[in-house]
Amino acid sequence: MKLSAELEKNIQRLDELDSAYYNGEPQLTDAAYDLFKDSVLRELPPNHPRLNKVGHEVSDGWKKRKHIIFMGSQNKASDEKEILKWINDVYAELGVRDGDVEFLMQPKIDGFSLEAVYENGEIEAAVTRGNGLIGEDILDNARMFRQMPNRINLNKLVVARGEGVLYKDQFKEVQAETNDHYKNIRNAAAGISRRLDGGHSKLVRFISYDVNAKVSTESEKINVLNKLGFTTPEVFKISTKDDILKVYQAFKDKKRDELPYEIDGLVLKIDSLELQEQLGIDHNRPNGQIALKFESDQAITTGKKIKVQVGRTGKLTPLAILDPVNIMGSIVSKATLHNFAYIRSMMIGVGSQVTIEKKGDIIPQVVEVITPGEPYENPTACPSCGGGLKDDGVNLWCFNEGCREREVNRILYWVKTLDIKGFSGKFVERLWDMDKIRCASDIYRLTPDDFIGVDGIGEKTIKTFFKALDETKEMYLDTFITALGIPGCSTSTAKVLVEAFKDWDGIKKMEPSQIEALPGFAEKSAIQIVEGLGSILGMAEELLEVINIKEKKQGALTGSSFCVTGSLASYSRKDFKEAVEENGGVFKSSVAAGLTYLVTNDPDSGSAKNRKAEKLGVKIIDEEGFLNLLGEKPEPKEEKKEEKKGNTGVVLEYESLF
Ligand SMILES: [Zn+2]
Repeated sequence: MKLSAELEKNIQRLDELDSAYYNGEPQLTDAAYDLFKDSVLRELPPNHPRLNKVGHEVSDGWKKRKHIIFMGSQNKASDEKEILKWINDVYAELGVRDGDVEFLMQPKIDGFSLEAVYENGEIEAAVTRGNGLIGEDILDNARMFRQMPNRINLNKLVVARGEGVLYKDQFKEVQAETNDHYKNIRNAAAGISRRLDGGHSKLVRFISYDVNAKVSTESEKINVLNKLGFTTPEVFKISTKDDILKVYQAFKDKKRDELPYEIDGLVLKIDSLELQEQLGIDHNRPNGQIALKFESDQAITTGKKIKVQVGRTGKLTPLAILDPVNIMGSIVSKATLHNFAYIRSMMIGVGSQVTIEKKGDIIPQVVEVITPGEPYENPTACPSCGGGLKDDGVNLWCFNEGCREREVNRILYWVKTLDIKGFSGKFVERLWDMDKIRCASDIYRLTPDDFIGVDGIGEKTIKTFFKALDETKEMYLDTFITALGIPGCSTSTAKVLVEAFKDWDGIKKMEPSQIEALPGFAEKSAIQIVEGLGSILGMAEELLEVINIKEKKQGALTGSSFCVTGSLASYSRKDFKEAVEENGGVFKSSVAAGLTYLVTNDPDSGSAKNRKAEKLGVKIIDEEGFLNLLGEKPEPKEEKKEEKKGNTGVVLEYESLF
């Protein structure tokens, strides 16, 4: 069967990456390498020889040695659906029902594979994975590893298989001493183990989970290893699908963070070696075992084009438009590229195969380029107004007065910071195009008549908008400064500035040297703030003609912000807002990062605000907790949510073997 030219090219690229990976000089992060490898291998026909390849040829430097036990690979599952499919296949093949077969589950340690060989009670070799058949014997270094017995109390040939690993805190130590030389913890452990000078070897630990003992189960192997003095990972003996999924979830949610070493999933094995044998091995992967990987927050896709956006400050920001791809359940079709220097340094172009990452609420970003695309040429004119650009070496800027995209974004920044409901980006653009608004203060002069002829705006939206506008006409000085969108001036910066310079007159007269004298400011950011404010002073003064700055009250709630959901017994929503502000707190109409408290009498209502607060880790308190805060009691009663599903009652015959 002939493979497509693209697939051939990808196999070749995979060989290059493989070689680099196994020689301790990976070109990509592990996650990206794994993703790319999986995506290529998945395309291959089932009998293709590339599927049988394990590891890579070893490099020079260390003596080569044949493995006693062949080091194969593992099948993988990366979500619950794939895990269940594997279990069901196993049950069908063995003709058993759920609960009939015992499994052993253990963390999949993010280290490098090692085979330790003992003869007459003495360690004789420590062989890396290499190509699966032949690896490098790094015995000199391995003798220094922690938890690697140099002698065992058994005069027979003993082969212990496991992982060389660095603990998380020691990785930090190594990074500090080597100026962040290593890409990640696994790479550091592997790199150190192969150092010819033996440096840092004392920080590597050996954790073993397989041995050539003549036993009938995986759990007996663990017992034997412990008796011989090896350190083994914690293992769980489980016999139902439900329990397997519960342990998987528990590790994914929390337990992985509690371990001293990094893991990238769990390994699930049928405990009985006889049953494992019955299932056989395909492509060097035993069918009776599977690696349960954690869902990746990265994916591989192709860049379709680079779109350039003009921000409120005039800065041009390139954005990658991608072939849509699913990351953890959401479809991603755009990713930030930061700036033009980033595009150049990463060699990103149209047609590039890239790895993108999506973490939490952060905009997805391109983290790695697997294959470069067409070289990208920087724009020579503003994509919005067509005017000339200024190049500061890293970024391109449009400083043209009246650049539509820049001004619309500036107005939108004001609208979003103040949370003026009913006013979307599309409406701002339409009103701009109809010459109704040119700057933020113009929106306060709008009348319902101005919306006539704007498509898609109903009476309800107009009502919502004017109500929201009315509610946001009064604001504190720090909110005002934040909403102006001065570069380098965040909510917390604005607070510090207001505290130091008291009022608007003081703020207007700020000198960079005065700002620099405040804690947490560098010269560069001080200058940026003063210059930024200078460039929008006109807009600010115009705004002050249509809005009011209110005095900040000091009180029990100073420094905290509050949002409410559902009804309260002692307050209407309006009264609640007043109570918060009277006592120096900040009232917020929506839940966003940075909110201190969500107040609700029904924490289990599952409302959108509740869910979002939980996701963001915002403290959820009830009305009584709020009243306690007002009474200046130290800590409010935090609603006790039901404990996250852990593995309580799940782990049967759990053996903590450390
Ligand atoms: Zn422009």
